[in-house]
Amino acid sequence: MIQFNTKISELSRVGKATASRLKKLGLEDAKDLIWHLPNRYEDFSQIKPIAEVKVNEAATVCGQVELIANRRSRLKRMNITECLLSDDSGSIKIIWFNQPYLTKQLSSGEQIYLSGRVDDNYYTLQFTNPYWEKASADRIHTGRLIPIYPLTAGLTQKQLRFLIKQVTPLASRLTEYLPPEVLKPHQLISLPTALKQIHWPQNQSSYLEAVKRLKFDELFFIQLLQVKNRQELKAQIAPVINFNENKTKELVSNLPFTLTDDQRKCAWEILKSIAQPSPMNRLLQGDVGSGKTVVAAIACLNCALSGLQAVILAPTEILADQHWQTLQQTLKLFKLTMGILTRSQRQTNHKKTKKISKKEIIEKLSNGQIDIVVGTHALLQEKIDFKKLGLIVVDEQHRFGVEQRHNLKDKTPGDIPHFLSMTATPIPRTLALTLYGDLDISIISQKPPGRQKIITKIVDDANRQAAYKFIKNKIISGQQVFVVCPLIDESDTLGVKAANSEYEKLSKKIFPELKIGLLHGRLKGKDKTEIMDKFRTGRLNILVSTSVIEVGVDIPNATIMMIEGADRFGLAQLHQFRGRVGRSHRQSYCFLFTDNSNPKTLTRLKAMTTSDNGLELAEYDLKLRGAGEIYGTRQSGLPDLKIASLDDLDIIKQAKQAAQNLLKKSPDLTDYPMLKQEFENKKTNFHLE
Ligand code: ADP
Ligand code: MG
Repeated sequence: MIQFNTKISELSRVGKATASRLKKLGLEDAKDLIWHLPNRYEDFSQIKPIAEVKVNEAATVCGQVELIANRRSRLKRMNITECLLSDDSGSIKIIWFNQPYLTKQLSSGEQIYLSGRVDDNYYTLQFTNPYWEKASADRIHTGRLIPIYPLTAGLTQKQLRFLIKQVTPLASRLTEYLPPEVLKPHQLISLPTALKQIHWPQNQSSYLEAVKRLKFDELFFIQLLQVKNRQELKAQIAPVINFNENKTKELVSNLPFTLTDDQRKCAWEILKSIAQPSPMNRLLQGDVGSGKTVVAAIACLNCALSGLQAVILAPTEILADQHWQTLQQTLKLFKLTMGILTRSQRQTNHKKTKKISKKEIIEKLSNGQIDIVVGTHALLQEKIDFKKLGLIVVDEQHRFGVEQRHNLKDKTPGDIPHFLSMTATPIPRTLALTLYGDLDISIISQKPPGRQKIITKIVDDANRQAAYKFIKNKIISGQQVFVVCPLIDESDTLGVKAANSEYEKLSKKIFPELKIGLLHGRLKGKDKTEIMDKFRTGRLNILVSTSVIEVGVDIPNATIMMIEGADRFGLAQLHQFRGRVGRSHRQSYCFLFTDNSNPKTLTRLKAMTTSDNGLELAEYDLKLRGAGEIYGTRQSGLPDLKIASLDDLDIIKQAKQAAQNLLKKSPDLTDYPMLKQEFENKKTNFHLE
């Protein structure tokens, strides 16, 4: 009898070659096969009298083989099997190419079912290469919804259906681990039934039932993990960061601007959470330029005033340096010791120790002499024992893997610090619920007042010169320009080559009279900061760059963002680039250069010209390209979903609700031993941890 661990090679009609092809699909035993799910179906469920089939339609007929014979077509050098099939209503011709063995499997007088597309051959209808099987009640290739499976070269749908049919009885032996209080209210069918029905649905609604159950299953375990993580985190102790109202007011009233209502609201949410003795785990989301940094600074100030240390981590050295500058400016009223530690920069704000070694900074962190430190994620690799770490701020956190997030927590024995991650990459709601389900979310949705909408244009080759002229005029009037270059080939991952040649072109041919700088990831950290400084202080008119400037860079005098090869970037990324400009009261522009004329590409880019809403763009991109491609499955820790998708908002919500209810009743799932067992098994497979 077939067991879950029966090797595929032991199943009927599987030779060595087939076994190795199946292995390519990751299929080695019966259990793998039963979990190999169809990715679509063909609807051959309508069984019709032969006289009623129509051209171009997917049809099933049932009839008697009148005659069947092979012939060679000299013209096409093929073997052709011709067959005549008839029922009470009439008869129809069938041809199969290159399957001469059919004449051995079928003979006249036999009753068969046949499913396929009907075509028109010189005014008579015929079936070409249809699926067929001998008449019986238990059909798998004809007269029903036919599962279509992911395949690999050398395998056929018919083979796979035949194999999966053999292992289907195993479904009955799967344990139902979901308790009735989950199954009933969400109207879920049992797991064994769902698996049988996903392979062999009787009709559309039985397929939908099966899909719903299996999607729910996948999403439910993810939610269970998230809710549990959250519970566990909340049960931990965190250092209390008191709200220092006076000093906070002092900071706010000395800013060169008034905080927006959203900034106030978010700052307040954060201050409230960190005043609790359990760790905050919060995402601060706000579109580019919405002013997240100052909100983080407020939290850091309160942390330092409570006698605790704060860390701010940025994805790039450029951004770390920028935070370093901003922080010194914003917090200059307070007597705090701050430092920066990146590969190329080690400093504190105390004059005497302006240049300082890495070792000294680490020492100062462990004896508590530094209140706030800024770094890149290289800081995670260092062995640092903070004296009393109270708050970790991670900027642009989607760049940090979930794994690293955990690393960071490991660095802080004893009390768990509060955790704030900030991102401008808008997270569609479904993602927020699945991927960041264990986080609280604060959202800044307004921009600082007085910002104008950035005018965005797609520029084709014909308009390139005109665009250059426009740019030149703006520069003459004192404004600055970013030029972003695309990744050309994969070997050149940092796009250095592209940036170099763009730099050459602009500085020699197009704008020889202007001051142009070049920035890319291969430059030394010191050189990078120097170039950024030059640009920031207006000593460069144009900054040519790879996508290193993508996140966070804040240079209000830059008003034009010019993106070469715009079609190579995702919308969320383009929106990030665009967010580098429009940071002052002046009108800003974004030019998307492309020589791609593919209508689909242009439609996608067009979305940039009509929408300036990052969330809208991200959701649109998510639909077009799928989450994996946008966020990078590995980097973002996106779960590897087999059947559910991140569009399944309703099911995600239901799964979350169900997970919360169960864990509330039984925090360790001890009341649900089978579920607990399955959860433990699955947990090791999640990328989420
Ligand atoms: P992001 O949310 O993209 O990180 P930043 O924190 O870099 O945005 O802020 C963008 C710019 O807006 C900075 O120059 C900052 O000083 C400025 N800014 C922040 N908040 C306000 C505000 N309420 N009013 C005016 N300007 C602001
Ligand atoms: Mg920022």
